[in-house]
Amino acid sequence: MNLILFGPPAAGKGTQAKRLVHSRRMVQLSTGDMLRAAVASGSPLGKRVEGIMREGGLVSDDIVVSLIEERLPEADAAGGAIFDGFPRTLAQAQALDTMLEGRGARIDLVIRLKVDDAALLQRIAGRFAESGRPDDNPESFKVRLAAYNDQTAPLLPYYQNHNKLVEVDGMGTVDEVACAIDEALDAPRW
Ligand code: AMP
Repeated sequence: MNLILFGPPAAGKGTQAKRLVHSRRMVQLSTGDMLRAAVASGSPLGKRVEGIMREGGLVSDDIVVSLIEERLPEADAAGGAIFDGFPRTLAQAQALDTMLEGRGARIDLVIRLKVDDAALLQRIAGRFAESGRPDDNPESFKVRLAAYNDQTAPLLPYYQNHNKLVEVDGMGTVDEVACAIDEALDAPRW
């Protein structure tokens, strides 16, 4: 099964993806984690994306698409992947469909974690100091949220039109959201 966890920054995608890795033995493909690893390693790619990430902007489609392309064979080994933080633009979504198609696979489900902007800002206010992420500060977070609303949220109709979209209330506790995700995954589908 190939699953996209969809939602704004700090909606809980990473937390829920990690839980699913344990409970369902899936592979988590997080472009954010891959890019942070590149920055930490000081590689040429890391140097290219460091500033963009710090400010909260989106890295170019080409870069993130090739990162996913490289890692897809790992997902095959686990029978599918959880895409976390990818795709973020229509071009990425289309590239993902093409990549999966080439492997005889497809996106089975997109779970949207619904959390409103005001609640997000409140939720992460306390996280800024402790997270250690250079893009977890009020200025960068606003840019990240704007990038989500302008470039990523418009993907929702794309997945809705393909009958892949399920919405889950992301405002509850980690366990409540986890339960709702499990229900969505276990529900009979078309
Ligand atoms: P995340 O951990 O998913 O919140 O990603 C952290 C940062 O990495 C984002 O704010 C972007 O700068 C960059 N990034 C991660 N995934 C993508 C993507 N799919 N497309 C463009 N930029 C991305």
